[in-house]
Amino acid sequence: MKARAWLGGLAVALIAAGAAAYAFRGEISTRLVERTAQTAMAENLREQLPDGLHAAFCGTGSPLPDRTRAGPCLAIIAGQHTFLFDAGDGASETLSLMGIQQNEIEKLFLTHLHSDHIDGIDTVALQHWATGPSNEQLQVAGPVGTARVIAGLNEAYAIDQSYRAAHHGPDVMPSSGAGMHATEFTVPLNDGEELELYNQDGVRIVTFRVEHAPTDAVGYRVEYGGRSIAISGDTSRSASLTQAAEGADLLVHEVISPRLDAIMHQAAQNSGRENIGAIFHDIMDYHTSPEDAGRVAQQAGVGALAFTHFLPQTPLPGLAETFVQDAKRTYDGPVFAMRDGDVISLPRAGGMLRSHHLR
Ligand SMILES: [Zn+2]
Ligand SMILES: [Zn+2]
Repeated sequence: MKARAWLGGLAVALIAAGAAAYAFRGEISTRLVERTAQTAMAENLREQLPDGLHAAFCGTGSPLPDRTRAGPCLAIIAGQHTFLFDAGDGASETLSLMGIQQNEIEKLFLTHLHSDHIDGIDTVALQHWATGPSNEQLQVAGPVGTARVIAGLNEAYAIDQSYRAAHHGPDVMPSSGAGMHATEFTVPLNDGEELELYNQDGVRIVTFRVEHAPTDAVGYRVEYGGRSIAISGDTSRSASLTQAAEGADLLVHEVISPRLDAIMHQAAQNSGRENIGAIFHDIMDYHTSPEDAGRVAQQAGVGALAFTHFLPQTPLPGLAETFVQDAKRTYDGPVFAMRDGDVISLPRAGGMLRSHHLR
């Protein structure tokens, strides 16, 4: 009897405590923010990482909707330098949540001008300016056509930039830092041909053609401290990429699952959504299956294969694993299905580390 009364009292006390916490949830949350805001504000992922080459996944999605993946975005941190490769929708927000300082982005390289790879660069440009002060515009390099895209975006945001410059003043948001500056290059014509775009402080970045017709698309290879990362961009199985990735420590590759794509194609057809069905059919020929990406990795002799740009979307966690299993049929090395916030580190001292940084 006593025990029952004691339990009853405990239950009442717990309910009362829960009700009090619920009633004061606003105040409790504010106190928590008070404690953590300074740490979050001072965070700089680059300063936490060992000297070396790091691939930070700031967007592992594709044009298809996926709540857990921003549009294509890869930040490469090489020693003191930070570069960005593509910036799809949500990329800037993910960079912020990873503690990557956008005013430190030295250059944004575009793999091609498909919308999913550029529809977040306007926000990156704003953050590059606002988190400065940045006296210089965000530098953007990409295939021919990049200057036209950047000119259009600069024009679209010119009014917004004038408001912000007037409101915050030249010390905080100097007009010279608003918007972007484009540099174009001609995509190398032949497999095995590379174009050097950057060579400074031991960091070397080259570009090469990949297979994503009708777009002019490229991949990149970044080298620093004796380590190297090859980036596929969007491509079907590419001989050019295989050559450029030779011996790289890490190959970051886009991927499409023929089986999952066929399910989406059939579902669209069965629902009378023939246009969508046709698109699911058409995209198969300019992306790479996990098995083919594995073949590229095997032939190039890379140290590890990391998948990004998942097609179709992966709403269930188990789905990403199917890409890994399929690639392991053709590649002997480690295969990773990347998530937003993941970082693969290649320290100058050697080895490979994986970590996750998403607040
Ligand atoms: Zn894409
Ligand atoms: Zn594309």
